[in-house]
Amino acid sequence: MHSISFFLSRMAFNSTFLKDTVMKDQLEKLQELALSELAVVAGEEELQALKVRFLGKKGELTAIMKGIGSLTAEERPVIGQVVNSVRDRIEAAFEERSIYLKDTLRKERLRSEKIDVTLPGRRSPIGTKHPVTLVIEEISDIFAGLGFLVAEGPEIELDYYNFEALNFPKDHPARDMQDTFFVQDNLLLRTHTSPVQIRTMLKQKPPLRIIAPGTVYRCDYDATHSPMFHQIEGLMVDKGVTFGDLKGILTIFTNQMFGSDIGVRLRPSFFPFTEPSAEVDIACVICRGKGCRVCKNSGWLEILGAGMVDPEVFKHVDYDSEEISGFAFGMGIERVAMLKYGINDMRLLFENDVRFLSQF
Ligand SMILES: [Zn+2]
Repeated sequence: MHSISFFLSRMAFNSTFLKDTVMKDQLEKLQELALSELAVVAGEEELQALKVRFLGKKGELTAIMKGIGSLTAEERPVIGQVVNSVRDRIEAAFEERSIYLKDTLRKERLRSEKIDVTLPGRRSPIGTKHPVTLVIEEISDIFAGLGFLVAEGPEIELDYYNFEALNFPKDHPARDMQDTFFVQDNLLLRTHTSPVQIRTMLKQKPPLRIIAPGTVYRCDYDATHSPMFHQIEGLMVDKGVTFGDLKGILTIFTNQMFGSDIGVRLRPSFFPFTEPSAEVDIACVICRGKGCRVCKNSGWLEILGAGMVDPEVFKHVDYDSEEISGFAFGMGIERVAMLKYGINDMRLLFENDVRFLSQF
């Protein structure tokens, strides 16, 4: 095999020998050499070294190209074309070899890897129900036992269902931008589950008993408030429903939820959509009424708001308040979950820390 220096030496001895012919020969020899060496390369590292040797900045092709400067103007484009074609050919050969090597390595690896079918399988970890879900399910079960059906409504709600039909006056502070997330002028993220009362009564004539668990939103964030939280709404409408029925149903509920020895008390309160209204307290589940930090030494914990449905609300749904009456109540699920499981910061419920959540 002739080396490049053979041609160079011939050129030196024979000045009439055309320079472009010499270069063309050199390029063809280089291509031949590169292809033959590539054919026996066995690994990626060796392949890279060979690439540097032939195609690198200080490689053999560059060395030959330095001679282009001494060619005539007519010879240059001809040799330029040969250089390009040789470079393309060598580059393509490198690419081919690289693919071939990768494929061979993969096949070898597959041949050598063995699967032990006698090994025991790996179980995927299974999550647990979120404490908020557990409490919603438990409350729903208790009320199902009392004949209440579950109703649902949208989380993006019209002002009408969230405020107006529930007898909130136009200037009520809850409508303020600071408390409510507005989507548009008339559209908002519901601030309570109470709009489900209106939606249900518009669809259905009395008697009815529903509970409506769901997500609600308010601009609030600290240890006992989250901008997204959960409520459960209750509504019972029938002939002759009294405040006594309300207290009876809620007493059955708190006894089943927190234990039959837990006392219940009602305090007068105000809500735009109930009249009369009450805050419902249970005896502190931590100190059993003796007084502690959680109940602020009062011995009582507020757990829900309730009252008799205001006749103004019945007007919006075309119910005759002379004929029927009803009560409604609403409570925060997180509050119940925190009391039930002894959680002291509401934010823990939404941080998605598996160490916390796997305790339930
Ligand atoms: Zn207490």
